[in-house]
Amino acid sequence: MNTRRSPDYLAGYPPALVHQVRTLIEQGGLADALRRRYPQGHAVRSDSALHDYVQALKAAHLRSAPPLAKVRFDNTLHVIRNALGTHTAISRVQGSRLQAKREIRIATLFRAAPEAFLRMIVVHELAHLRVREHDK
Ligand SMILES: [Zn+2]
Repeated sequence: MNTRRSPDYLAGYPPALVHQVRTLIEQGGLADALRRRYPQGHAVRSDSALHDYVQALKAAHLRSAPPLAKVRFDNTLHVIRNALGTHTAISRVQGSRLQAKREIRIATLFRAAPEAFLRMIVVHELAHLRVREHDK
């Protein structure tokens, strides 16, 4: 039995919005509402396209943040780890220096999600290059 619960992704949003979303979920209308609001898909369908997408956002907004060694979709994140995205930094000794290889993984479900959702999770994981924890 999986005892890990999904994080409450709606925590922190205004109560009226949370109520609206929960009502749509109860009525089974959330997917249709989202499709109406975000009719555009996106072309970020492969690891290489995701890599370019993330690097472009990083270059535009976080140029001085440490470099990313790897960016990829991960189809185990959502199911196994209850995560929509992850960022990791694996430290290893290279000569006399300690080198951190930073990696961002995005749950594969965002390949088919609207671009606004992909952007949201990518921006979140990029922000972790600067801020490790989830505080205000
Ligand atoms: Zn996070």
